Amino acid sequence: MFSSTFKRQLTKSIRFQSTFTIPKTQMGVIFETHGGPLHYKEIPVPIPKSTEILINVKYSGVCHTDLHAWKGDWPLPAKLPLVGGHEGAGIVVAKGSAVKNFEIGDLAGIKWLNGSCMSCEFCEQGDESNCEHADLSGYTHDGSFQQYATADAIQAAKIPNGTDLAQVAPILCAGVTVYKALKTADLRAGQWVAISGAAGGLGSLAVQYAKAMGLRVLGIDGGEGKKELFTKCGGDVFIDFTKYSRDENGNDKMINDIKIATNGLGPHGVINVSVSESAISQSCSYVRSTGKVVLVGMPSGAICKSDVFQHVVKSLQIKGSYVGNRADTREALEFFNDGKVKSPIKVVGLSKLPEIYELMEQGKILGRYVVDTAY
Ligand code: NAD
Ligand code: ZN
Repeated sequence: MFSSTFKRQLTKSIRFQSTFTIPKTQMGVIFETHGGPLHYKEIPVPIPKSTEILINVKYSGVCHTDLHAWKGDWPLPAKLPLVGGHEGAGIVVAKGSAVKNFEIGDLAGIKWLNGSCMSCEFCEQGDESNCEHADLSGYTHDGSFQQYATADAIQAAKIPNGTDLAQVAPILCAGVTVYKALKTADLRAGQWVAISGAAGGLGSLAVQYAKAMGLRVLGIDGGEGKKELFTKCGGDVFIDFTKYSRDENGNDKMINDIKIATNGLGPHGVINVSVSESAISQSCSYVRSTGKVVLVGMPSGAICKSDVFQHVVKSLQIKGSYVGNRADTREALEFFNDGKVKSPIKVVGLSKLPEIYELMEQGKILGRYVVDTAY
């Protein structure tokens, strides 16, 4: 069917360039069924397409999204078997023949958005995450819980030489996402922002980005350890949701305390990064009139309830915010490179991933776990 010249070009285009010795197999964590065993085992090293780079992943952050992907609790089909992970930082060890923006030896990052069509209306306007053909790392494309992973060169993050790869890993999803969410909230320096889920992976970075943007930060999370981390991240006022009873009176008291702490009117904006449906709906009650409620965390099957009367007379806005585009990634990394944001991480071996998921499910993680792919 194809002419011999075209066949030759085709063969050439899938050949990749490298000066590294790339093994045929590697260690990674793979699962065959949602909620099934997470196997830490030897798997093949993927071959980059002409438009892709092959990254020797050194470290990867573990995001709550990876837990959703493993459980399969979102209404979005994932590839199976699947290698999860989408906060991978490493070294470019090979590249496809069409790749112009990376050299072998550069540092690069794997993001949630592995690639998109780059030609639809959304991609055209820099909203690539909303592309209907979005390819997602650790979801529709094998991700960063392996020693070698492929990434579309256009979307892969550029990481400056000399960067601490374990530290930068969480910026690639958590950092970019909360930075974009804060931009979506469209607040001014000096205003109050509430971060619901303030000491988790996204939350602990959201607090720091918000402070770096000149905002006053009220954090909501549960327990002394979370309060301590929130304070270390520079947060101003901490509300421990576990100290309020779960009935309506308890909710009213918490809402009241949040308002009192924010000049009696409530925060100007709320970034919801908890995985709690009730916490999300509560944020519509305590946000200040004309304020913005930004939805980021995605508890399975959750509905955001907002009282219509209050919603109208308070003139509220509820906005969804989904990762960030290439410019958001560059900007979020600039805050990190300037030392304005530090990742509160705990590094363990990739083989420990099942234990991290267990702790995450129980809400016991402070900041972010980062896995070292070497063990
Ligand atoms: P995480 O588990 O590290 O953090 C969640 C935090 O919420 C924990 O500290 C937990 O204690 C806290 N929490 C639980 N119940 C709470 C409540 N009632 N009130 C306040 N805080 C509460 O998770 P993460 O990695 O930060 O991810 C959070 C969510 O964001 C997940 O659903 C994830 O899938 C989603 N996410 C969305 C995007 C996006 O683009 N929109 C990107 C990345 C992650
Ligand atoms: Zn993520």
